[in-house]
Amino acid sequence: MIMLEKMMKAAFKTPAGDFEIRETPIPKITQPDYVLAKVKAAGVCGSDMNFWKVPSQFEGMITGHELAGEVIETGPAVKNVKPGDRVAIESLVACGHCYWCDVGQYHLCPELMKIRWDTLSRAFSEYVAGPADNFFKIPDHVPYDEAAILDVYGTSVHACNRTGVRMGQTVVIVGAGPIGLTLLELVNIAGAKAIITGIYDHQLEMAKKLGAYKTINTRLENGLERILDLTGGRGADIVYECVGGKHATKTIQECISYARSGGKVALLGLLEDKLPPFKIDWGKVLLQEIDLVPVMSFAHWGNDREFKIVLDLLIDGRLHAKELITHRFPLEKINQAFDTVANKRETKAIKVVLTM
Ligand SMILES: [Zn+2]
Ligand SMILES: [Zn+2]
Repeated sequence: MIMLEKMMKAAFKTPAGDFEIRETPIPKITQPDYVLAKVKAAGVCGSDMNFWKVPSQFEGMITGHELAGEVIETGPAVKNVKPGDRVAIESLVACGHCYWCDVGQYHLCPELMKIRWDTLSRAFSEYVAGPADNFFKIPDHVPYDEAAILDVYGTSVHACNRTGVRMGQTVVIVGAGPIGLTLLELVNIAGAKAIITGIYDHQLEMAKKLGAYKTINTRLENGLERILDLTGGRGADIVYECVGGKHATKTIQECISYARSGGKVALLGLLEDKLPPFKIDWGKVLLQEIDLVPVMSFAHWGNDREFKIVLDLLIDGRLHAKELITHRFPLEKINQAFDTVANKRETKAIKVVLTM
């Protein structure tokens, strides 16, 4: 039996939408198959940024859904990990017995949000507890901070699976932030040719390093002209929207304009809350049979667990997670970490990780 302090530090959302570090009880192992882990690294996600300094959003809650850590204690039914193990932690926790959980689409479970916020989607704290099924041992050569950002790769692999990207295709990735860049890596692994658009030079530089076929700075160049030029006037086989937020009102339409007849537009960027209704070119979507493919998190794909697919790629040294992590902060400096992402033009941030 390991002796623990009863209290831990955690970052709570304030009424103003930033964070305050407070003491709170360490979560308990409430089920026989639960694991208690010390959080060692937690990534700041673009979706977290949608609620940064937005008053009254998630007030009083502990958030954060990209994490890795060390197992501290396990319930009696846990077989896959033991105290002291270094683990990647998947933060999607669903009910396990509804229709969607039953067919492997646990990311669509109606109870997902409630259960994940109560268990493992509390990365901005010192400890988390949740089902053992979400804990995956990582070897010593995989650092915690790299394992923590597997959630980003998970969404990107789900986008690849949902769109069936394959060798011989030309895709356009709109947005060169962490989602766009991780997707670029996976599209390359799948064998397609990737054009990536963005508005930050440091992100487009990274895209070049990661093997983008072409990069387009849409602040300086006409994206549509360049893409038509690069695809023989046809447009891209698949376009991935990886911006979201309030800009989605513009970027989704941009993506539709980049797609070829019979192509696909995948929507990865999370929309800002309370976004007003906006127009897209339904005429083109219909007449040219453009498939719109929403992508929300990840789950199983066929027999494979998508989190495990990207975990194996990371373990095998095929991902560039290390290069994507530009900044690290201790939990106490979480507000500074979020500011660093918010001011990425100045800070040149790509992926920011809290380390504990
Ligand atoms: Zn996320
Ligand atoms: Zn369920």
